[in-house]
Amino acid sequence: MKEKLIQNTKDAFRFVFETEPERIFLAPGRINIIGEHVDYSDGFVLPAAIDKHICFAVRKTDDAEITFFAKDFNDTFSFNVNEKQSPVSKIWANYLLGVFNAIQEIGKEVGGLQIAFSSNIPMGSGLSSSAALECGFAFLLNEIFSLNLDKKELAVIGQKSEHTFVGVKCGIMDQFASVFGKEHQVIMLDCNSLEHQYFEANLEGYSLVLFDSCVKHTHLTSGYNDRRKDVDRGKKVLGERFPEVEKFRDFSIEMLDELKDEMGEISYKRCRYLLDEIERVQKAAEALAKGDVSSLGNLLIETHNGLSTEFEVSCDELDFMVEKTLQENGVAGARIMGGGFGGCSINLIKDKNVDLVIETIANQYKKAFDIEMKVYRVKISDGINEYNRNEIIV
Ligand code: ADP
Ligand code: MG
Repeated sequence: MKEKLIQNTKDAFRFVFETEPERIFLAPGRINIIGEHVDYSDGFVLPAAIDKHICFAVRKTDDAEITFFAKDFNDTFSFNVNEKQSPVSKIWANYLLGVFNAIQEIGKEVGGLQIAFSSNIPMGSGLSSSAALECGFAFLLNEIFSLNLDKKELAVIGQKSEHTFVGVKCGIMDQFASVFGKEHQVIMLDCNSLEHQYFEANLEGYSLVLFDSCVKHTHLTSGYNDRRKDVDRGKKVLGERFPEVEKFRDFSIEMLDELKDEMGEISYKRCRYLLDEIERVQKAAEALAKGDVSSLGNLLIETHNGLSTEFEVSCDELDFMVEKTLQENGVAGARIMGGGFGGCSINLIKDKNVDLVIETIANQYKKAFDIEMKVYRVKISDGINEYNRNEIIV
C-alpha cells in the first residue's frame, strides 16, 4: 500500500517537474483509541499513528520558490520564501503556507523546493489528513534545511498553521500523533503539558477497523462550542467551591455530585462524562499493554454510551452503526471516534470475523440510511519519517 503511494507520488513528481525527486517523506494519519473531548479539560488522550500516509516527493532548487503539486487535486501552488505570506483562497495551500509562516516567525530560513504530494488518508473523515499535511511539510523543511527543530516544535508548528492560516482551533493531539507515532504503540498524551508515555498495543488477534458513516452533520461547530460552554459552566461552579483543586481531572465524582443542582443537569452530565472518560483513558492504556482486549472493548462501549447520552455528540447513523456492530460475533468494542455528529466509528474486531462484520454492517447501514459506508482497516505505525534515505530511488 505504502509502496504504491510512493510510486504514484514519484510518477507525479516526474510528470510535473520533468526531473527526479531527491527525497521521499511519509506523514501518517492517526486514530484515537479513547479520550474524546477531554483535550480541553486537562485530560489524557490515547492516539496512535496509522499505516495511511501523505507522501511527499521533494527536490531542492537553486531559486527562492517553493512549488507544490497536490496530486489528489491535480493542482499547483507556488510562493517565494523571501516574502511574507498570508492566507490565500486555495484552502489546501493554507495548511502549508501556515507552516512556512510559523517557521519564518521563529527566525528560521528555508530555500527553494519542488514538491509533489499525494495521500491515501481519506480527507475530512477524522483521520487527520490535515495534521499529516502540516507536519509532513514542517518535518521535511526541518530535515532538508537543518532547522534544528525538535519533534514537539514540529507538532506545535502544525497546530499553529491550522489555527492561524486555516482558522480551525484544533487541539494538539492530531499533530502530536502524526509526529510521535511508533509502530505497535499508543501514546498517552497530556494535551496541556505535552507529557507523554508510550504503551504497547497488544491487540491479541483483534484488528482495528474504522467504519466511515460518510455523514457530517452541520451542527458540528455549534455543537462543539455549546459543549464547551456547558463544561465551562460546570468548571466555574466546581472551581468556586473547591479552589484548592488545580486541574479539572482532579475533581472527584463526589465533588461533582455535591454541586449538581447548582450547575444544572446539563453541565453536570457533560462534566460527569469528562471525568469518567479521563479515568477510562488510563484504564484503556493498561488494558492494551496487558493484551486485555475484552476490558479495552468494554471501555470503548462505555465511551460511546457517554458520548451518546451524557455528552450528546453522537447521531442516529453512528448510534445505529455501533449498536449493530456490537451485536456481531467477535466484536470486543465499538464507539464513535472524534468530535461527533458524524465521521467514523472505531471497532475492535477479531481478525477472523472482520470480513463478515464489515459485510453485515455495510448491508444494514445501506438499508437503514441508503448510504454506502466506507471501511478503513488500520495498523498502528510509525510517525513521520523519511523513506529509504540511503537507497537510490528508482
Ligand atoms: P481531516 O484532518 O479529518 O482529514 P480536515 O478537514 O481537518 O479533515 O482536513 C482536510 C483538509 O486538509 C482538506 O480539505 C484539504 O484542504 C487538506 N488536505 C488533506 N489531504 C490533502 C491532500 N492529499 N491534498 C491536498 N490537500 C489535502
Ligand atoms: Mg484535521
